[in-house]
Amino acid sequence: MAKGESKTGNCRFCGQSSIIEGGADMTAPQLEEAATMQCTCEKAMAYQETANRRTVAKQRAEELFGKDAGEYAQPDDTLAYILAGIDQVCDKKAKQIIITIKTSLRARIMQMAKDKIKIVRETSNTDEFTQ
Ligand SMILES: [Zn+2]
Repeated sequence: MAKGESKTGNCRFCGQSSIIEGGADMTAPQLEEAATMQCTCEKAMAYQETANRRTVAKQRAEELFGKDAGEYAQPDDTLAYILAGIDQVCDKKAKQIIITIKTSLRARIMQMAKDKIKIVRETSNTDEFTQ
């Protein structure tokens, strides 16, 4: 990424302005987001924690279901559903989302205590019991 000139942005919560390195090409919402991610006020810190958690959860989902997941690798559009599910859970619009990819493979996204997010790749061998 080319390093543009810096610009200032304001924290979404407390309005404190901070210098955003390379912010010259950013839109107003991007500057606000960057300033919020840098601010040290209480609400911004809580927001940063949530945002980081979301990023880590998405990285984890890509490890479990992305192109490097071997036999569990899913096409981009399926992965997009899983990532959208993470947003739903992070935004507290859903407590748990289960995406059944096929009978023996499920993606489970769960909200845990203290707002933690859990991503599970569930596999099963229930095929053995078919009659
Ligand atoms: Zn702030």
